[in-house]
Amino acid sequence: MATAAAQPKIDPATHVDVLIAGAGISGIGSAYHLQQQCPGKSYIILEMKDTFGGTWETHKYPGVRSDSDLYTFGYRFKPWVGPPIASGEAILEYMGGVIEENHIGEHIRYGHRITRCSWSSGNNLWTVEATRRSDGARLTFTCNFLWMCQGYYDHEKPYIPDWAGIGRYKGRFIHAQQWDPGIDYTGKRILVIGSGATAATVIPAFAGKAAHVTMLQRSPTYFYCAENRNELADRLREVGIDEPTIHRVVRAQILHDQQVLTRRCLEEPETVFEELKALVRQYAGEDFQFEPHFTPKYRVWQQRLAFCPEGDIFKAAAQGKVSVVTDTIDTFTEKGVRTSSGQEIEADIIVAATGFRLSVMGDIPFEVDGKPLDWHETITYRGMMFTGVPNLLWVFGYFRASWTLRVDIVGDFVCKLLNHMDAIGAKRVEVALREEDRDMKILPWIEQDNFSPGYLMRGLDELPRRGDKPEWRHNQDYWIEREDIPATDIDGPEFLYGG
Ligand SMILES: Cc1cc2nc3c(=O)[nH]c(=O)nc-3n(C[C@H](O)[C@H](O)[C@H](O)COP(=O)(O)OP(=O)(O)OC[C@H]3O[C@@H](n4cnc5c(N)ncnc54)[C@H](O)[C@@H]3O)c2cc1C
Repeated sequence: MATAAAQPKIDPATHVDVLIAGAGISGIGSAYHLQQQCPGKSYIILEMKDTFGGTWETHKYPGVRSDSDLYTFGYRFKPWVGPPIASGEAILEYMGGVIEENHIGEHIRYGHRITRCSWSSGNNLWTVEATRRSDGARLTFTCNFLWMCQGYYDHEKPYIPDWAGIGRYKGRFIHAQQWDPGIDYTGKRILVIGSGATAATVIPAFAGKAAHVTMLQRSPTYFYCAENRNELADRLREVGIDEPTIHRVVRAQILHDQQVLTRRCLEEPETVFEELKALVRQYAGEDFQFEPHFTPKYRVWQQRLAFCPEGDIFKAAAQGKVSVVTDTIDTFTEKGVRTSSGQEIEADIIVAATGFRLSVMGDIPFEVDGKPLDWHETITYRGMMFTGVPNLLWVFGYFRASWTLRVDIVGDFVCKLLNHMDAIGAKRVEVALREEDRDMKILPWIEQDNFSPGYLMRGLDELPRRGDKPEWRHNQDYWIEREDIPATDIDGPEFLYGG
């Protein structure tokens, strides 16, 4: 138990019912749900940056855009009215609209970095320490419930592999996450290392002005080429249907189509791959070669499909503006990179699109009753709550479906939980394994044969663990969760209430 001296007093000036960490798309959506469904609750959002947006504010490389459609990446409550794939700027504008229309801005404390969170069972409160960027002041807040919306990767330090000879390179080296929009790449030879969604976005954007772009990939990725328009949405608009209805209907249609695609990827991956190739050929020509650079080794859908609006990267490749090398890096040289098979690739600018550094709970030190918390020792309840950690929830979205779909589902769940706690007079809720779970197999967070992005695989030791029952794992299947999570019996034996 915490000592009396360690227990914070409640100061109404710095105490809220709910504290939301982060003003990205998860934090803003969560605030909306809290306001709507628990109108009596006081709350603040602490955000370390000077503005909202998270991912969409951090990434400033040319062409930055979603790879999900915004009918499902947008919230269920605010209609999306633009083309399905949206620029980072359009997503920020959409989020800005949600903040303004719902007066969320007055609850956000920008420039506040959370540096420590400590739970005390003595008074059932979290104490949240934060540093204010403007003057370096160290502030302390208390809250009853902590809603973690801080994302899953380090916004300041991207993942850069430990490449040999990197210090020798005389050109400009930059990670895509740290791209400075002031960099002039007109007429430059650019080498992009990586093949995921970021590479697929940045390469066609560079190709417009650069002398040439080379994509160096360790292994190929699946691409999905399509026009950046939704036929159903266009048709409904044409006949005068209102935007909220269009949003609801088009969202339902896209989710249905994705569910069918996901099932087909599992049942008939070769056929799906042939269809993806046919889409590429529409843009790159019938004689486009898929071997060796566009034939992945993993099963389709095991990692997110990289979306190419209008087949842009393939068009650029067919026009000779982009070339692809599939190889590993032996060493950086003064002029570029030498691959393991001995190919020299010269470049004026090298852009690493090598992904993220996982950051579990924002790398914030946590304590429960004076004891440091090791997340790896906890077991997750549906990828949102954790054994031994009261009154806390983490919003971790989907990878195959849009992340934000889960923000809405989890938002409903938290609000139901908070209202239930009020109804029964509980000050504390915690999840715990039931008697029947005692012999359950405890496994790593990620189900590797199902989904295996590099940044999660590198960070498995830091992530919480899971069991092999639906309640104790983060199910990446939106279509199951949209039924299961609302149907949760929050009076079930896995929920322990107190206070
Ligand atoms: C370039 C890119 C494109 C993507 N495209 C898609 C897509 O099309 N579809 C999709 O589903 N997913 C996509 N993703 C995944 C994407 O990250 C999520 O969909 C989503 O934007 C994450 O939102 P979030 O609010 O949970 O986290 P973030 O966007 O990471 O925001 C977290 C916020 O918390 C703040 N924060 C973190 N630590 C602290 C702290 N200690 N104190 C205070 N504040 C803190 C951060 O500053 C940030 O503002 C993409 C990711 C990237 C990088």
